[in-house]
Amino acid sequence: MVYQREVVASLPAYVQGKSIPNAVKLSSNENPYPPLASVLETVREQAGSFNLYPDMSARDLVERIARHLDVRPEEVAVGAGSVEVAAQLIHACAGEGDEVMFAWRSFEAYPILVRVAGATPVPVPLTTDDRHDLDAMLAAITERTRLILVCTPNNPTGAVVTRDEMQSFLDRVPSDILVVIDEAYTHFDDDPDSASGLEFFRNYDNVAVLHTFSKAYGLAGLRVGYAVAHEEVAANLRRVAVPFGVSALAQTAAIASLDAEEELQDRIDLIREERSRVLAALREGGLEVFDSRGNFIWLRTGANTVAIDEALRERGIVARAFPGDGIRVTIGTPEMNDGFIAAILSAARLNEPSLIS
Ligand SMILES: *Cc1c(COP(=O)(O)O)cnc(C)c1O
Repeated sequence: MVYQREVVASLPAYVQGKSIPNAVKLSSNENPYPPLASVLETVREQAGSFNLYPDMSARDLVERIARHLDVRPEEVAVGAGSVEVAAQLIHACAGEGDEVMFAWRSFEAYPILVRVAGATPVPVPLTTDDRHDLDAMLAAITERTRLILVCTPNNPTGAVVTRDEMQSFLDRVPSDILVVIDEAYTHFDDDPDSASGLEFFRNYDNVAVLHTFSKAYGLAGLRVGYAVAHEEVAANLRRVAVPFGVSALAQTAAIASLDAEEELQDRIDLIREERSRVLAALREGGLEVFDSRGNFIWLRTGANTVAIDEALRERGIVARAFPGDGIRVTIGTPEMNDGFIAAILSAARLNEPSLIS
């Protein structure tokens, strides 16, 4: 047997949202709408040249993102999805013996990425209402803490960190620890009190922001995301990046998506309206559900998670279950959501007394 790092064999596999024939897939927080015609057209035009390597620096995309956000191109680093950029951030900051902190439960990729880097994950439990417990996170900082990931809106609970909370947190985090604000779902966040990652990036030298084209922009299958980080950090992200990680088609599609933001906004608005409608229907049916600011909702099903997930599946709905904890359900098209509402209400009735707290 050849030598293999011990940590690798012990890593849990990242679980992809299940896809079952004929079932409604609400398990991966994907955008339920097909690519925009304008984006698809640009990608088609480009498709004839995939014998060539992409621009490794993704210069046009980086400049377009910088213009979009009013930051400097030197402050933008791209990757094959923001998961890859999160890996770059971890690799740039932490290695053997270092600690990377995040709330838990949060994005499942975090602990895996941290362990791959050889660093130690430090998960800090959410509050009882499933929000980041920033005081507990501050208390968990040690001399070995190198990076803190703050996911807002949080996947999978949908809760946000407010501007005031973030401010008071950042004021107390030592300035040599990088705080990464993962805003994968920021387009769906309509809470006026939410922290804006970019605003904090501008005011703190130790803040970086992660954005993705996978969710609101609907490019999940093309793999492109980016960090906005201060120049030295962004330069290091480019150093640790896998060369040519972002394909030419992904670069083109991302630029076209930024050019089509108004059209995309209509879809985002629709998903937000649907989220309100789904939450209202569940509450009317007697279920207790927290508000969510992502393109998904979170059901606290606790010990009944597996039973309810199976009941949903029998009714043709595939959601993302976290056994013992809860079920995350992506907001789809109105038709998909109707199917989910009917399924969860009948599943919950079968599982009486109210199993969703
Ligand atoms: C989906 C998601 C991402 C982005 O994934 P990519 O497709 O790799 O861009 C990043 N962070 C969180 C919290 C997510 O849920």
